[in-house]
Amino acid sequence: MNTYPSRPVVLCLSGHDPSGGAGLQADIEALLAQGCHAAPTVTALTVQDTVNVSDFRVLDRAWVMAQAQAVIADLPVAAVKLGMLGSVEMVDTVVELMQQLPGIPLVCDPVLRAGGGGSLGKDDVGYAMRERLLPIAAIATPNLPEARILAELPEGTADECAEKLSPFCRHLLITGGHGDETDIHNRLYVRDGDSHTFTCVRLPGSYHGSGCTLASTLAGRLALGEELVSAVRSALDYTWRTLRDAEQPGRGQYVPRRLPLDFSQ
Ligand code: PLP
Repeated sequence: MNTYPSRPVVLCLSGHDPSGGAGLQADIEALLAQGCHAAPTVTALTVQDTVNVSDFRVLDRAWVMAQAQAVIADLPVAAVKLGMLGSVEMVDTVVELMQQLPGIPLVCDPVLRAGGGGSLGKDDVGYAMRERLLPIAAIATPNLPEARILAELPEGTADECAEKLSPFCRHLLITGGHGDETDIHNRLYVRDGDSHTFTCVRLPGSYHGSGCTLASTLAGRLALGEELVSAVRSALDYTWRTLRDAEQPGRGQYVPRRLPLDFSQ
């Protein structure tokens, strides 16, 4: 038997997307590609295809607690990644869980809408995240529409949203994929006032699971010990490559190709 050293464990609290493009499957694939081990805790089930979401159900708080407790009691969690939480109660459940993981970096992807526009949580969930999760997160990774909801600035620019949100969190990465600029500007705001812009070429098409890919890769990079700004750059670069190599398995959005095609060797 070969015994290998264990890879860093990332606890993922996200929803399940049966199309396989976003949610926990995206987290698992992206983390495998970084050389991490994903410990996937299901927060919600969704009904969706690659076009849009038609329904979702948030799991009971007790079930989510029990799943995460089993992981925490057994595995050395090196980072936590949050995706779809779906309810204010789930936000509070995660806050409680994080009290058992002091010092462990938390990456918060404030998921409120699917790529097709369908709801994955009411705006109240976003406000609860802003008030109670952003302050304990190492970094939050909203896209511009999500940042506008969190900041309650429906027409706000990234800078305006950041000004309102920065007091709540140490690092805020507002991704620019949903804008109409020729190039994409992903902006990282640091609470001390520093900021970095990462520019990449806009790819044609619309993608399902790009935000999940980015946030879980970032959590994996932090779990591996990479410094935050470098981890953001690595995660953006990896995500861009998965979009460049995306495929269209259904009638809707492209799904990022997060893993090599052939594992059989
Ligand atoms: N999490 C779940 C369970 C989802 O179903 C979705 C989108 O459909 C997302 C997160 C967010 O996806 P994206 O990475 O495209 O923003």
